[in-house]
Amino acid sequence: MPFKPAENPKCPKCQKSVYAAEERVAGGYKWHKSCFKCGLCGKMLDSTNCTEHEAELYCKNCHARKYGPKGYGFGGGAGCLSMDTGSHLQQGS
Ligand SMILES: [Zn+2]
Ligand SMILES: [Zn+2]
Repeated sequence: MPFKPAENPKCPKCQKSVYAAEERVAGGYKWHKSCFKCGLCGKMLDSTNCTEHEAELYCKNCHARKYGPKGYGFGGGAGCLSMDTGSHLQQGS
């Protein structure tokens, strides 16, 4: 019988099936509600403050620290980030 069982999507965090009642969608993946938290600080996330990066979830703060364009690690660069208005991109226009 050419019957294919419907495959439940797997949560990238715990590799278990995600059912509709508990799913959270981010970055093309489906996550458990309980797995939908920052991989660095463990903060619970929702669809407005989550950032997906290579099947890992981060809050916006941690993602910016880990993958931000400045490349600063924890403990540095926060002040520099807020001062970066992009003015260097507007010169010569
Ligand atoms: Zn999970
Ligand atoms: Zn975080």
